[in-house]
Amino acid sequence: TRLNVNTTRKEDELTDLSIQINTVLDKMAKYVTQQKQFVEDVSHELRTPTAIVEGHLKLLNRWGKDDPQVLDESLAASLNEITRMKTLVQEMLDLSRAEQVQDHYQYETTEIRAVVTQIFHNFQILYPDFHFFFDDDLTEERTVRIYRNHLEQILVILLDNAVKYSTERKEIHLSISETLMKIQIAIQDFGEGMSVEDQQKVFNRFYRVDKARSREKGGHGLGLSIAKELLEGYKGDISVESALGHGTVFRIQLPFIEEEEVKKIKSQI
Ligand code: ADP
Repeated sequence: TRLNVNTTRKEDELTDLSIQINTVLDKMAKYVTQQKQFVEDVSHELRTPTAIVEGHLKLLNRWGKDDPQVLDESLAASLNEITRMKTLVQEMLDLSRAEQVQDHYQYETTEIRAVVTQIFHNFQILYPDFHFFFDDDLTEERTVRIYRNHLEQILVILLDNAVKYSTERKEIHLSISETLMKIQIAIQDFGEGMSVEDQQKVFNRFYRVDKARSREKGGHGLGLSIAKELLEGYKGDISVESALGHGTVFRIQLPFIEEEEVKKIKSQI
């Protein structure tokens, strides 16, 4: 019987091991599929501007260069497409860097109210035709473990979107509050909103609700994935609530550091 018990235990261990190996293999397969999809999406995203620029250059090469108006228009259109490609490259770099947040920025800290206030004022100046409201519910300044530039980048992505997708009612509400050990920042607009189905996909890479219109507005569908990737790297979170035709709220959460710990960190510097 002892032999039997031993073999059963060995069998159990083997089953456990094989389950673990399968989980790792599944994860790897999923990762490879995602990478493949990413390369496909990037190629797709580059194909349109490349074709447009090629078309204009061919036109100019044939006869367009002799017509000042065609020359002007083709140059302007090509420049526009090149700028789009440049943005895409920058966004892909940002995305790739966002994936490595934990390795490089884990000791960075930022005072949240100061950053949010500054970005809020920048947007007020940048978009004078919008009404911005700021609701600050923090009882005191809070420190979060995030690299300041990353927090700014996330806020800019969300506020840029709020501006981009609000056409009629130009009103944006920014609020900052705290719940149990977490800071919450909400950005609300009263723009076009999105369906429940779209809300589930907007954080996916390259996802755009209205591809044609988003292209006009300059988006590649990477902004929200960069924001999400960054936040997850800092143990934070992002969520969306929206109603088609009524507007959208994006909420981000970041854990804050206790005052005692902030003092300790400051004394080490
Ligand atoms: P993009 O550069 O296209 O704006 P994002 O990743 O930032 O890419 O957003 C993905 C898509 O989500 C957008 O194309 C848009 O359709 C939708 N979206 C994002 N923010 C909002 C918003 N505030 N209101 C309505 N739709 C939005």
